[in-house]
Amino acid sequence: MSEPHDYDVIVVGAGGAGLAASISAAQAGARVLLLEAEDEIGGSTQLSAGLLTASATSVQESLGVDDSPLRMFQHYMDLNGWRVRPGPVRMFCEESGSAVEWLLELGVEIPAQVSRSAHEPGLTRAGVEDVWRGHVPKDQGYGLVQVLDKARARLHVDLALGSRVEDLVVRDGAVQGVVIEGEEATAPAVVIASGGLAADADLVRRFLPDAEVAGDALFVVAAPGCRGDHVGIAERHDLALFGQGWGLLLVTAEFQRYHHWQSGFPPASRIHVGLDGRRCMDEDAPYAVSPGILKDHGGWVWSVFDDDARTSLPPGYADWDADRILEEAAKGVVLRADTLEELAALMDVPADHLTASVTRFNALFANGNDEDFLRHESLAAKGVDPHLAPIATGPFHAVRMLPAELVCTHTGLEVDARTRVLGTDGRALPGLYAAGEAAGGILGERYVGGGNSVAHALVLGRVAGREAAARAAASSPRTEEDPA
Ligand SMILES: Cc1cc2nc3c(=O)[nH]c(=O)nc-3n(C[C@H](O)[C@H](O)[C@H](O)COP(=O)(O)OP(=O)(O)OC[C@H]3O[C@@H](n4cnc5c(N)ncnc54)[C@H](O)[C@@H]3O)c2cc1C
Repeated sequence: MSEPHDYDVIVVGAGGAGLAASISAAQAGARVLLLEAEDEIGGSTQLSAGLLTASATSVQESLGVDDSPLRMFQHYMDLNGWRVRPGPVRMFCEESGSAVEWLLELGVEIPAQVSRSAHEPGLTRAGVEDVWRGHVPKDQGYGLVQVLDKARARLHVDLALGSRVEDLVVRDGAVQGVVIEGEEATAPAVVIASGGLAADADLVRRFLPDAEVAGDALFVVAAPGCRGDHVGIAERHDLALFGQGWGLLLVTAEFQRYHHWQSGFPPASRIHVGLDGRRCMDEDAPYAVSPGILKDHGGWVWSVFDDDARTSLPPGYADWDADRILEEAAKGVVLRADTLEELAALMDVPADHLTASVTRFNALFANGNDEDFLRHESLAAKGVDPHLAPIATGPFHAVRMLPAELVCTHTGLEVDARTRVLGTDGRALPGLYAAGEAAGGILGERYVGGGNSVAHALVLGRVAGREAAARAAASSPRTEEDPA
């Protein structure tokens, strides 16, 4: 007879994935322990806009949006060049709609109304979706976490804060629990939901070398608890990692240090030019694809705007502020010159290329029709009039735009379509499941905005909790056979 376990299911990390896993496991009748390393729950999920992508939901249906998991799958796979795992991605797409209905039942509010941004509750799009698929909950990520935590408490899931899991307990070829401060807590099923690795600079260097392009300008907005503890677990137990080199780096000005809620927004009348001084992109290209565009131009581009644009910036933001730009110009981070020709010299780009690009930009946006990069469509989707003021009043400014804001990372424990964690030999380690950023195989090179990562956390968390509870039920009294 084996020893009785302390719990049926142990969940590591109380962000979106961990809360979803612990709720779904408890709903299936499991006794659940949720362990959180920090002194508060929420992780990056709590800091997020809470925007989540999902197909065939009641919210879409109420707004007349025709969608299906297969359509979402095709879009997801194509955007990622089919370099993610098709089976797990299919599961993600198929489970996404029922996950949204589940969230609504738990009390999350996603009103059936059109939303123009990730900050307005309702249904939105972030630019790359083939149909409107971005669901924005009321009170964003914070509201989402609050509702989930209430459900956790209602279902009597035990929560232990300040409990950083160090390792797994593996006996007889199966996971039997976790180790915290040298002590064991046992369960026949464990869900790793410990988030990404953005807060550990060494792991970022190893698993997301693209972040190095930003140099000193790199800043991390992910939660401090995202220390990549799943990597050590993988290395100690011969588990496969998937998604190396991938993550979400948002394109920001070199002087930015905050997420755009605090940082503010660049002026609409601005032109992005490459190192050859030529306009090279839609300045409002979706964040899902803009870092990739920069990569094709040597890693970063220049953003050029005039003094009218600077002085028209609304007050109240930390970075995109008229005075702040002068301060950055004094430091040399923003280049500033009376004429475009002088600015081109400071930027080290051909002056005739820059002036020709600005002349064409001014002509296109006088008519509100950007036939070169179709930016008028991106502006219109944001509710911005595409008739932009010309870039014409000196002094002129240029600042480097870099992939510098690290939001989340995609290297996780490789999972199968049931969220079971695979070993380097391709076989599932019995009793181990993963969800959210700690899980690999679904989050790809191209972030499927908006709402790829929150959806991934909640959908996989819900599935992992269900699977873990089923395993626990099958091993009580414990059988040697994996219910797989
Ligand atoms: C500012 C910001 C805005 C964002 N906006 C969006 C958005 O609108 N839509 C979207 O899709 N994505 C967004 N993202 C990304 C998204 O929020 C995250 O990728 C997602 O929420 C991750 O969920 P998770 O549960 O995997 O991790 P987290 O929510 O980070 O939770 C992981 C938890 O595990 C804990 N933990 C870590 N190690 C251990 C350990 N060893 N033992 C115990 N606990 C541990 C951590 O402290 C943390 O609480 C945003 C991210 C940020 C930072």
